[in-house]
Formats: sequence, structure tokens, C-alpha cells
Amino acid sequence: MKNENCPCGNDLTYLECCHLVHQDIKKAKTAEQLMRARYSAFVKANGDFLIQSWHSSKHTPTLKHDLVHWAMSVKWIRLEVHETQQGLENDNEGIVSFTAFYMEKFMNRALHETSKFVKENDHWVYLQAI
Ligand SMILES: [Zn+2]
Repeated sequence: MKNENCPCGNDLTYLECCHLVHQDIKKAKTAEQLMRARYSAFVKANGDFLIQSWHSSKHTPTLKHDLVHWAMSVKWIRLEVHETQQGLENDNEGIVSFTAFYMEKFMNRALHETSKFVKENDHWVYLQAI
């Protein structure tokens, strides 16, 4: 039986791809890798990773609960990464634009976002949409 591809759309299995980042966030060497791992964390409703990969200045008391609640309430379909600027191993900032396709209340939805990523504590984190 063929293993399923990682939810982020790479040609690897989840265990070979985003799972490694979910276990150790420093495994995300680029902003795009972190972005892909965040998408997979939404698919898996992994609230701990979503918080860990979000800049500490954005944390609120209910953030994890709200993210997990939303992540579980939709059906995730796929991720398309369109473009990245900087965000490589030796950069401290990066921009990734993507579209996440999902179904919410039986409606097809597409979240298109250009996101800013920065390094915090020596690893990539999501800062905000720009
Ligand atoms: Zn992946």
C-alpha cells in the first residue's frame, strides 16, 4: 500500500516531511518549510505546534483553543505555495504567499495570504499576514 503524501503537498510522506518539524521546530530550515508545517498542523489540529510556530507577541489566552476549534471544524483540501522572498536558512525574515483550500459548512473556501515570517529563538515563526 502506498503511503499518503504529506498534507502540505510535498512528494514525501507525513513522517518524512512535516512530522519532523512538528517534533522539532528547528528542523524547518526555511520560512516555506515552516509555513508548510503550519498548514499540516492545521490539518492535524496540532494546537501545540500552531502556538509554538506563532510569534510570541501574537499569543493570546484563547489562541490555541480557537485555532484547534477552527482547524477541526473545516475539511482541509490542499495547499498551494505561490512565491517566497528571502526566508532561506541564513535569513532572518521571509515572505511566503500561499492559498489554502478547504471546505467550511459545505462551501469551498480558499484562504489566500501573503505571510511574514521571522526568526525567534533561532527558529522560524509566523509573524502576521501582510
Ligand atoms: Zn509536509
